[in-house]
Amino acid sequence: MKKLKINNFSKELFTITVFILIAFTLFFLNKPKADQNKSFEINEEFNKELNNIYSFFLIKKNNQNNKKIIKVESGDSLQKILLKEKIPQLEINKIYSKIEKKIDIRKIQKGQLIQLVLETKDKEIKISRLSFQIDNLSTAYLYANKDNYDLKLVTKNLEKVNFLAKGVIKNSLYNSAIKIGVDAEIIIEFARIFGFEIDFQRDIRANDEFKILYERFEDDQGEPYKNGNIIFAYMKNNGKEMLLYRFKDEENIIGYYTPDGKSIEKALMKTPINGARLSSTFGFRKHPILGYNKLHQGTDFAAPRGTPIMASGSGVIEKASWNGAYGKYVRIRHNSTYKTAYAHLSRFGKNIKSGSRVQQGQVIGYVGSTGRSTGPHLHYEVLVNNKRVNSQKLNLPSGKNLTKKNKENFIKEIQKINELMLISKTNK
Ligand SMILES: [Zn+2]
Repeated sequence: MKKLKINNFSKELFTITVFILIAFTLFFLNKPKADQNKSFEINEEFNKELNNIYSFFLIKKNNQNNKKIIKVESGDSLQKILLKEKIPQLEINKIYSKIEKKIDIRKIQKGQLIQLVLETKDKEIKISRLSFQIDNLSTAYLYANKDNYDLKLVTKNLEKVNFLAKGVIKNSLYNSAIKIGVDAEIIIEFARIFGFEIDFQRDIRANDEFKILYERFEDDQGEPYKNGNIIFAYMKNNGKEMLLYRFKDEENIIGYYTPDGKSIEKALMKTPINGARLSSTFGFRKHPILGYNKLHQGTDFAAPRGTPIMASGSGVIEKASWNGAYGKYVRIRHNSTYKTAYAHLSRFGKNIKSGSRVQQGQVIGYVGSTGRSTGPHLHYEVLVNNKRVNSQKLNLPSGKNLTKKNKENFIKEIQKINELMLISKTNK
């Protein structure tokens, strides 16, 4: 009896244990299944999102052919393209009525890309997404909803930021600045600003330092789109520091000034030509054609034929014509003391003739080899009171200094710029 009881008890225990085990098994088997389903749904949704929005990153990976990038050919219209994709005319009409209100659809141009995500439903091809760029900053996205389309225009907002580029020159300003992300146009402007003080072809030493504070227009991802003005420029050249601040004076004239209010713009440029090599200096030399020692009363810059020559200062053209051994020749009168002359030109610049006014930096002619010359070069002369002097040793007079009232404003401007520099974006 007793034995039986135990047996009964263990039978019961066995049954209960088995029941519990089954229950647990069912529970645990079920539980993860439910989770899997849930996460699968999320995945599907996520996938749909990817298909719609980021589909084009996935084309190769998924190898699905319902996503297309179509290049607009000449004579194409959106209508033509969609018909070619076998989109029913009714759908095309819906798309057009949606888009036309917001975008000039005729603006779709040859070479432009149109992105399409197509879906086949009940044997009918439908668009689930259509997108194309309107211009550099805006993109149109068209999404299918139940029986129509939603149009979304995404325009990048440009924000003006102040960017401080700091660098050390290894071999050239250009290479060192490009390396830290400064655009060529800013580098050229920087070189122009310092052009009266530093000759970037000859004066630069390794480990010279530069700083450029300038305006930059960036989109919301911090991607630069265009540049604004240089606000501050700094050079440490051969140990000597130079700081220049942008300032608009009372007459609305913009210039760059040293902290004590001196204009950097000298009356004359040291080198009226870019990218040239100083080939012959002022002084006695054996003349390459005449063969005997003669005082070379100018400076020669070797440069390829056609290289533009700039007016080294503002002034009035005194002569722009053939001048014997000088060949095609231009002479500018800058003021009562200074004149500059340019010889052996291949041709004259636009509107360069006797009596016309020129601005500093304006192209007055192009390098050639006319007259008594052995090869393309610019023969450049500076005349002080009609006497030729060595332009490279000349201590050129500086441009204007700020007046008292302007200087007060300039000092405020310096403080503002210095504060700006502390909070600006920088490359380091
Ligand atoms: Zn010469």
